Amino acid sequence: MKKTILITGASRGIGAQIALLAAQQGYRVGLNYLRNTEAVNALVKTITDGGGEAIALQADVGNSAAVKNMFERLDKQWGKIDVLVNNAGLLTNFRVEDVDEFKIEEVFRANVYSTYFCSREAILRMSQRHGGHGGSIINISSVAARLGGLGGGSAYAASKGAIDSFNLALAKEVGAEGIRVNAIRPGLIRTTIHEAQGGLEHIEQVAKSVVPLGRMGAPSEVAQVALWLASDAASYVHGTTIDVAGGR
Ligand code: NAP
Repeated sequence: MKKTILITGASRGIGAQIALLAAQQGYRVGLNYLRNTEAVNALVKTITDGGGEAIALQADVGNSAAVKNMFERLDKQWGKIDVLVNNAGLLTNFRVEDVDEFKIEEVFRANVYSTYFCSREAILRMSQRHGGHGGSIINISSVAARLGGLGGGSAYAASKGAIDSFNLALAKEVGAEGIRVNAIRPGLIRTTIHEAQGGLEHIEQVAKSVVPLGRMGAPSEVAQVALWLASDAASYVHGTTIDVAGGR
């Protein structure tokens, strides 16, 4: 039977490339997004026109009830989930002396609460403890977790540090229940996320000097690693974090 994958934040960037590659590999694909309905519908059409199966799942993954509802829609469509990619994320830019409750909560909701809420729903369906058949959870962190991020990115870096720790802890919690848990730390990848930090052209220049490979990465280069982690080829890879960062 076909495997089902749910990717959060799949309307553009890294999530969109994971969705396209997953469809090429024969997965049924749930594409979560927040606002970008047009972009996600175009991706669903690309996949279904190519003979694949995909659905768009609008939900703010930082909202516990919305996540529960999203998984129920996925249940109705395909009745199971094999792979969850916690990819949705938000990059903001502010100095620490300018922080307030809203600024810090916005980042942690999008990047960390989302990972908890989606993992909760996935575990309830995948874990052998709950009658499931196992599965794989992939958490998208960032090299910011170990480098501190670019200027103004402390909240983002701290949220990704939380993902690295969560990844280790969750691997211990559910590994013996048939669920493999791994993370990816992308480096500077060519997506719209960099608008918060001077835009893509600026980051292309930064990459020339700070990335040992001398360039930004493509979203598809992250997608390849995510799909490998999800595959049986990675059956003994668990609780680890893979840097996809051009040596940075
Ligand atoms: P992106 O191009 O900015 O896309 C972000 C995606 O997340 C969009 O699909 C967006 O949906 C969705 N999203 C944001 N908040 C959401 C929410 N609350 N609920 C549901 N969906 C939400 O980002 P990206 O560069 O592809 O990044 C993907 C992941 O990789 C993020 O976790 C990011 O931190 C991480 N990462 C990226 C880089 C990089 O250089 N690009 C480096 C390290 C790590 P809408 O389109 O509907 O708004």
